[in-house]
Amino acid sequence: MTDTKTIQQQDHAHYLHPFTDHQALGRKGARVMVRGEGIYLWDSEGNKILDGMSGLWCVAVGYGRTSISKAVYEQMETLPFYNSFFNTTNVPAVRLAARLSQLAPEGFNHVFFTGSGSEANDTNVRMVRRYWDLMGFKERHVIISRHNSYHGSTMAGASLGGMSGMHEQGGLPIPGIVHIGQPNYYDDGVGLTPDEFGLRAASWLEAKILEVGPDKVAAFIGEPVQGAGGVIIPPDSYWPEIRRICDKYGILLIADEVITGFGRLGRWFASEPYKPDLITFAKGVTSGYVPLGGVLVGSRVADVLIGQGGDFNHGFTYSGHPVACAAALENLRIIEDEGLVERVANDTGPYLKHAFGALADHALVGTAETCGFVAGLNLVKRKAENVHYQVRFDPALGVGMLCRAHMFNTGIIMRAVGDRMIIAPPLVMTHAQIDEMVALIRRALDLTLEEVRGRGWL
Ligand code: PMP
Repeated sequence: MTDTKTIQQQDHAHYLHPFTDHQALGRKGARVMVRGEGIYLWDSEGNKILDGMSGLWCVAVGYGRTSISKAVYEQMETLPFYNSFFNTTNVPAVRLAARLSQLAPEGFNHVFFTGSGSEANDTNVRMVRRYWDLMGFKERHVIISRHNSYHGSTMAGASLGGMSGMHEQGGLPIPGIVHIGQPNYYDDGVGLTPDEFGLRAASWLEAKILEVGPDKVAAFIGEPVQGAGGVIIPPDSYWPEIRRICDKYGILLIADEVITGFGRLGRWFASEPYKPDLITFAKGVTSGYVPLGGVLVGSRVADVLIGQGGDFNHGFTYSGHPVACAAALENLRIIEDEGLVERVANDTGPYLKHAFGALADHALVGTAETCGFVAGLNLVKRKAENVHYQVRFDPALGVGMLCRAHMFNTGIIMRAVGDRMIIAPPLVMTHAQIDEMVALIRRALDLTLEEVRGRGWL
């Protein structure tokens, strides 16, 4: 049993905490989580919290799955580690690669394993550049990404990412990575229908390709729904048009499914309809129980990298780690046996849409939208029927952060991206738990409204 008292008294100053916003949340140090069960967490002060963020978009099957810990334990006892460098591998890695190829869209017959989503996107950068080298186009190394996207924290991952205040620090992006605007209808779609705006936002890709030079562009990367950037759901017209533009110039398309993979949007892989060439995965593959990531490699790239004359010398110590792969196999079994993907598509997803969407009647909420099991709402100063006429708060006031603190204290974890509040709950949620979550959100919104009024911001 964890000695929670000792943890509580520890000096948080020793832990280089990656994000220091606990100060903004009015806390002295980060909150220490000590236990999880189903969709709930308990902290070291004994508070029970509903996890609206699935850890960090990870815990699809919920906490406390003993069959995953058992699989991990058994693999630890049998073979805790072996590398994939000496022309070697291990049983869970081979099985998982086969399983993932079955689950992946047609034509994805190869898997490259990494330890995280960031490493997987680094791998993507190396793969697409090597692909063009081997094709005889050594100049074709530029990768186009989007502002406000998140693709990881390594040098390449952070360079691909486009979140202001984060991804331009320390001389990033590295050379050869450029960005276009995100398909954010709420911010940029004024005067257009969503579908018109989707085509407009996709046209920014073509403009960038022409600016850089089509013979220099290797690939375009994007999350099917931008997650960390604030659950930005693109109009339906966007992705098919992006695919068409990539095809026109022969450019590879990378779908970063670190958040959206394994059922979160009601499909095993959300990008399936628009046929990417490479798919990044992590998080949901193990429900976060142990670290694992990777790239699903479609035949166009695989045939060149590992076909005749191909070579791609790349790998990590922990690529295909047997314990991580054993956890993933059991996690995927649970997702499949419990029909979680279908439930999100046909049952709990539509239920969440209805329940979460109803929050749009709150005085502080401008819009509240969902896509599968991700959702976001915009906090506004003044509502209007047309979203483009809604009045925002001055971003400097930090209303989103204030709201996040109320969520936390009310007993639900919800993330703030500016004044957009987002959730990505565990896929195992029942209707009753969705109702409970939405009621907690409403209560915290009421408290936020009270405080915003008290401060004279309304
Ligand atoms: N891509 C996306 C879309 C992500 O959301 C994340 C993590 N939030 C990453 C990549 C990076 O994954 P990791 O933190 O495992 O390196």
